[in-house]
Amino acid sequence: MTNTADEVKDMYARLGISEKVYRFGREILDSLEPRFAQIDKTAEYNQLKVLGAMQENKVSEACLLGTTGYGYNDLGRETLEAVYASVFHTEDALVRPQITCGTHALALALMSNLRPGDELLSPVGKPYDTLEEVIGIRPSKGSLAEYGVTYRQVDLLADGGFDYEGIQAAIHDKTRLVTIQRSKGYQTRPTLSVARIGELISFIKGIKPDIICMVDNCYGEFVECTEPSEAGADMVVGSLIKNPGGGLAPIGGYIAGKRTCVENAAYRLTSPGLGKEVGASLGILRDFYQGLFLAPTVTASALKGAVFAANIYEKLGFRVVPDSVETRHDIIQAVEFGTPEGVTAFCRGIQAAAPVDGFVTPEPWDMPGYDSPVIMAAGAFVSGSSIELSADGPMKPPYAVYFQGGLTFEHARFGIMKTLQNITDAGIVVL
Ligand SMILES: *Cc1c(COP(=O)(O)O)cnc(C)c1O
Repeated sequence: MTNTADEVKDMYARLGISEKVYRFGREILDSLEPRFAQIDKTAEYNQLKVLGAMQENKVSEACLLGTTGYGYNDLGRETLEAVYASVFHTEDALVRPQITCGTHALALALMSNLRPGDELLSPVGKPYDTLEEVIGIRPSKGSLAEYGVTYRQVDLLADGGFDYEGIQAAIHDKTRLVTIQRSKGYQTRPTLSVARIGELISFIKGIKPDIICMVDNCYGEFVECTEPSEAGADMVVGSLIKNPGGGLAPIGGYIAGKRTCVENAAYRLTSPGLGKEVGASLGILRDFYQGLFLAPTVTASALKGAVFAANIYEKLGFRVVPDSVETRHDIIQAVEFGTPEGVTAFCRGIQAAAPVDGFVTPEPWDMPGYDSPVIMAAGAFVSGSSIELSADGPMKPPYAVYFQGGLTFEHARFGIMKTLQNITDAGIVVL
C-alpha cells in the first residue's frame, strides 16, 4: 500500500527540504486550518462574483479574439471593460494592454482628472515610491507639478489612525482629488481595510462633496469580499500583473470608476476625441479574461502563503508585519531579520523555489531609485510579475524582506520552506 504523506515528504527531501524543516512547516500548517477556511470563503464569494459578472455581460467565444490596427468595435475589449465594471460595481472601466504597469495606470488616472491650478491630497502619508515622480515630490519631467498641479500630504498618526483634524485643515477650494493607497507597499504602516477607506472617504466627502476619491488598489483586489469602489471611491486603479491578472495577464492596468473619471482617463490614454473607441487588443484578451477568472483563487493562494510565512517566522522570534493573527487587506508580508544574512538567505530560498531561473543566485545590487543595495528574488513566467512568488529586501536596517505572491499555495508553501531551510543551514535559527 502506498502512503501518500510519506511520498510527499520524500519529494520535499529530494528538493532539499530536511525532515526538521518539513515537520516545523507541517505543524504550523495544521494550526492554520480555520484561518485558511476563512480565506477560502472569501475566494468562493469572489469567484462567484467574477463568474456572475462574466455571465451577466454575455462573455462569448468571440470576445476572446482580438483586433488589430485602430481596434474599432472591439467586442472583447468592450465586454471585458463591462465585466470589470460589474466586478468593481462601477459605472465604467478602462482595462488595457496599452496601460503598461500600475504606475502608468495611477499616473493616467491622476493626470487625466486634474487640471492646472488643482491640488492633489494624500491623506494617508507618502504614496508609493514611483508616484513621487508622477506627482513631482521628486522633480521629474512631465510631473503633475510641471503642469501646475500642487500636492499636499497629511501623514497618518503614530498609531496608524487618520489625522482627521489635519485632513480637514488641508482641504480647501482647490483640492480636487484625493489619493488613498490601500496597501502599505514597502512601508511599515498598516494596510487599510475597505471599511477604513470607506470611513475616510465619507469624512472627506462630508467636507467637500465634489472631491474625486481615487484608491490605489494594487495588491488589494479580491482580498476582501468588497472593493473600495463599493465604499465610496470614485476610481480604483491597479496593475494586471498583480492580483486581478491572475498570473496570466502578461501586461496591463485598469481604472474602474465613475463614467466621467474613466472617460477622462480614456481621452488621455489615447487622444481627445478618440477615448475608449480605439486601442486594439491584439491577441491578449483571452489571458485577461482567464486571468480575471482565476484571480480570486490565485489571490487566496498568495494570502495563504503570506499567513504561513508570518506564522513560521513569528514563531521563530522575528517581527512580522502583518503579524500571525491579524486580518489581511493585501497580499504583502514583511519579515524583519535584523541582519543582511537573514535577508539574503530568505531571498535565495524564494529564488531556489522558482519554476523559472530557479538555478540562479540573487545578489544585492544598486538599483535606480533606491538609496541602498536591494536583493530581489523572482523566477516568474511573466517578467516582474509580483502575483507570482517573489521577494525583495533593501540592504539596510531593519533588514526586512517583503514578499508576496504564489500562483498556487503549494508553490508558496514550498518557497517558504526553502527560505527556512536556507535560514537554518546558515545557522541563523536552530529548529
Ligand atoms: C506595485 C504598486 C504600484 C506600482 O505598480 P507598478 O506596476 O510596479 O508600476 C503602485 N502602488 C502600489 C501600492 C503598488 O503595490
